[in-house]
Amino acid sequence: MYEALIEGTSKIITIDTFKRRYGEKSLENGLKLVCPACKSELHTYALVSLKREPRFHHHPNTSCVYTDGKNNYLAAPNSWDIENGKRIRTALEDKEFISKLYCFCLKLCMSGNLPVDKFIGLVKKADKRNLWSHAGFEEWVIGFLLLVLDDFEGTTREKQKYIFRFSLQKGINRLDESFTKPNSKIEIEDIMEREGYFLAKVFDSGDIMQYPEGNPYPVSRINWQRFSKDYDWTFNNHGAKLVQKIKEFK
Ligand SMILES: [Zn+2]
Repeated sequence: MYEALIEGTSKIITIDTFKRRYGEKSLENGLKLVCPACKSELHTYALVSLKREPRFHHHPNTSCVYTDGKNNYLAAPNSWDIENGKRIRTALEDKEFISKLYCFCLKLCMSGNLPVDKFIGLVKKADKRNLWSHAGFEEWVIGFLLLVLDDFEGTTREKQKYIFRFSLQKGINRLDESFTKPNSKIEIEDIMEREGYFLAKVFDSGDIMQYPEGNPYPVSRINWQRFSKDYDWTFNNHGAKLVQKIKEFK
């Protein structure tokens, strides 16, 4: 990693700053650097190497979504913003906002396919990544990202179970295997900065699903508004419970 968090603070330092201003000695003198996502201790790598680029590394056997996520195709942040992340994580405790977010995910999964606990599980997964602290992160994109963090189970009218999932794609030129296996990591910073990303809803086979209409869905503020605007039902029926659950594991 290029950046690390100074433990006990919201301060991010880059490996260059560390090299220039702190140095290896500072670690012996009590400075502790941790991963902004999993909070485990980091050590420096190749700090004085002429051939390798200096980096912060996790210790071996550390479990972190950014180092051991196998089907993990959301890239680690290029840059962190811990304070903004805290602000956004706190915004999830707002009854109106969390109800909108649940409404958004429910509309895309379709009613019956996303129980409250499953939705909360997505937020927990996002917490593990500290998704909120990607520099430049904005509220409207959260729903699109939550949906790619897990697979879902649906039931047909004939009571048959099936698996479906969402996949983020840059462009929609290749409506084929690219929906099951994105060939490069998606950078959240890139999604925030430019248009042209799509969220595709697919069966386990990779075949594109029909409903709700408009699949694959452009990742945009307009679609965030489209799928979150009728949140009265989630607000009235689940709002209080959502807030309570979100606060519970913060
Ligand atoms: Zn980590």
